[in-house]
Amino acid sequence: MRIARFTTGEDPQYGVVTGDVDELGIPADDTVLVALAGDPLYVGVQLTDKEIPLSEVRLLAPVLPRSKVVGIGRNYAAHAAELGNEVPDEPMMFMKPNTSVVGPGDPVFYPRQSADVHYEGELAVVIGRICRDVAPDRVGEVVYGYTVGNDVTARDLQKKDVQFTRAKGFDSFCPLGPWIETGHEGFDPGDLRLTTHLNGDIVQDGTTKDMIFDVPSLVSHVSSVMTLLPGDVILTGTPEGVGPMNVGDEVEVTVAGIGSLTNKVVSRD
Ligand code: MG
Repeated sequence: MRIARFTTGEDPQYGVVTGDVDELGIPADDTVLVALAGDPLYVGVQLTDKEIPLSEVRLLAPVLPRSKVVGIGRNYAAHAAELGNEVPDEPMMFMKPNTSVVGPGDPVFYPRQSADVHYEGELAVVIGRICRDVAPDRVGEVVYGYTVGNDVTARDLQKKDVQFTRAKGFDSFCPLGPWIETGHEGFDPGDLRLTTHLNGDIVQDGTTKDMIFDVPSLVSHVSSVMTLLPGDVILTGTPEGVGPMNVGDEVEVTVAGIGSLTNKVVSRD
């Protein structure tokens, strides 16, 4: 099931994206949303009789993390190598503030403090239940679903600061969307093709099969450090091919089986 958060100009609401999608997760033009009562993360999926064409809504970030976005660094060997880093022997965690989250189509603001802002296409895990110390074989019980993320990073500030907080924490540096895939027949988060296009040219083409630490390992590891809350997001790392994006560029991250997330880079000034 695909759960979107959207607006038609009024208060944000949630809806189920109906109909078939293609192999990349892209829906047909005549796709309809069935609106839900309340936030399904807290009240479950309560369908209403209201149907709205997908083409008539503006999609929003499908989840607003109330507490945190946890990022995982260097989780693909080829990406660690392209930045001259070793592969870690346990998951390397950092955090992005929840204020960095934006939705599909929202601008990514290029900060004045940086001259080297990179895209990082990633699979994002959305947590559904309060949990801690989750064993890997029970992670399925606490994952609500999956969406697509762009772990935007000011590479120059990441190197300068050593700590990642500024480099990854600017407002708009965590686009998420287009919706949450809660799972369907044959959906395997450990076997998803992930591509990133920059102005239509393919720049990342990876698979989640190449993760060093898989989703159960990551959620288990993070939950051994901090309590996870409903709506928390874990970004699972990026495959090789990261690179700069500049003002005016359009970045599209696609995770096959989930969908596509597109954002444009806009000057902060
Ligand atoms: Mg990343």
